[in-house]
Amino acid sequence: MLKRKEYKFWFCTGSQDLYGDECLAHVAEHSRIIVEKLNESGNLPCEVVLKPTLITNEVIRKTFNEANTDENCAGVITWMHTFSPAKSWILGLQEYRKPLLHLHTQFNREIPYGSIDMDFMNENQSAHGGREYGHIFTRMGIERKVIAGYWGDEAVQKRIASWMRTAIGVIESSHVRVMRVADNMRNVAVTDGDKVEAQIRFGWEVDAYPVNEIAEAVRAVPESDVKALTDEYYDTYDIILEGRDPEEFRRHVAVQAQIEIGFERFLEENNYQAIVTHFGDLGSLKQLPGLAIQRLMQKGYGFGAEGDWKTAAMVRIMKIMTEGMKDAKGTSFMEDYTYNLVPGKEGILQAHMLEVCPTISDGPAGIKVQPLSMGDREDPARLVFTAKTGPAVATSLIDLGDRFRLIINDVNCKKTEKPMPKLPVATAFWTPEPDLLTGAEAWILCGGAHHTAFSYDLTSEQMCDWAAAMGIEAVCIDKDTTIRNLKNELRWNDAVYRK
Ligand code: MN
Repeated sequence: MLKRKEYKFWFCTGSQDLYGDECLAHVAEHSRIIVEKLNESGNLPCEVVLKPTLITNEVIRKTFNEANTDENCAGVITWMHTFSPAKSWILGLQEYRKPLLHLHTQFNREIPYGSIDMDFMNENQSAHGGREYGHIFTRMGIERKVIAGYWGDEAVQKRIASWMRTAIGVIESSHVRVMRVADNMRNVAVTDGDKVEAQIRFGWEVDAYPVNEIAEAVRAVPESDVKALTDEYYDTYDIILEGRDPEEFRRHVAVQAQIEIGFERFLEENNYQAIVTHFGDLGSLKQLPGLAIQRLMQKGYGFGAEGDWKTAAMVRIMKIMTEGMKDAKGTSFMEDYTYNLVPGKEGILQAHMLEVCPTISDGPAGIKVQPLSMGDREDPARLVFTAKTGPAVATSLIDLGDRFRLIINDVNCKKTEKPMPKLPVATAFWTPEPDLLTGAEAWILCGGAHHTAFSYDLTSEQMCDWAAAMGIEAVCIDKDTTIRNLKNELRWNDAVYRK
């Protein structure tokens, strides 16, 4: 499994020395209790680490620079317990380069009506201090997340948890390396783009290899390894022969086992976390990688078909954002294929030629061997299943020439009304928000691709925050979308982002 680091988040409380040592001792004690309870809550994916109270320009600047260089620190959570004059934060914030959360909370939930005096109010003035602090970010144009609410509430803790996952997506973006087994499909526009700009903007390294160099790594896989993995496939998945000869079927499956091992070794040896292939450029590979790619996605690798390196990188980032999530429902590369336009049953059938990640499968997957209608290779083995139901997000990153735009659509996944016994690929079926027709019109007006990076386990808020941290445009299509407002938003965004 492709793991990320054990990230931690620093908890830094802002104050000043105006209120005396006793007040500062309370501030430190309250911060300690909050950090302890947050860590005990079981709601956060990462540990929170308490840092000494930040009271001077010098300490603030030093702490932020330490956070920059600590490889395990994925972001800083800040809280203004008292009033902390924001000019003290300017130099530190100018030098800070990681995600920042302004937790706008207060130690006590309720005003202590019977005992409140001026000392209490000076000590507990987040409402006051949080505004001064927030002002300087807005004045300096610094991206940050603001979460308001009582720190002990589960809803607030869960918002902190989702921000942590976004922060990890931001930090990990610059570690994504995409291996291109082939170039983008000829004449296709939306899957291509500026790789240099992507490296400047997102930190992605996108490298091409001659397909036969990869095919050589596949050929070098020993027969015994192929047999062992093929056996594992036969133990793990239903074998759906559909009248094919069992021996011949197994030989086809073994080809995918050899590809999975060869690809994975090549990816590991060369430090890649995402991969693209192209059905029209397979060199000496015997089959289009299907089952092999599905398994690699399940292990956490990003994938894009037909050379789609942008979607491959996004699938990787979204997989790492959801890593270790309790009850995760899955994240996959996906493609819009066919509509159901029956009133009341509208939706888009999602699939690909082969490559849909089994993490989204609802129940056990089966292996089929079927011809492809495109390309010139032998019939590839692939995993077939239908996807889970429930809300999810579908995203598309496009290159508009002068900027990147991330399009994020809230979708509702459903079961198709009837089974599709002749369709030999894994599928999902969803209705986009706010409804199929408005959603499709909005997506097309935004310029979104037919390929998406899709997840049940992330929200449009997280993806928007990720885009904001990257400094790119994000457009959400959700229950509130109207075409008139969307067209205006795109016009305004043109003015904001045009260089
Ligand atoms: Mn495709």
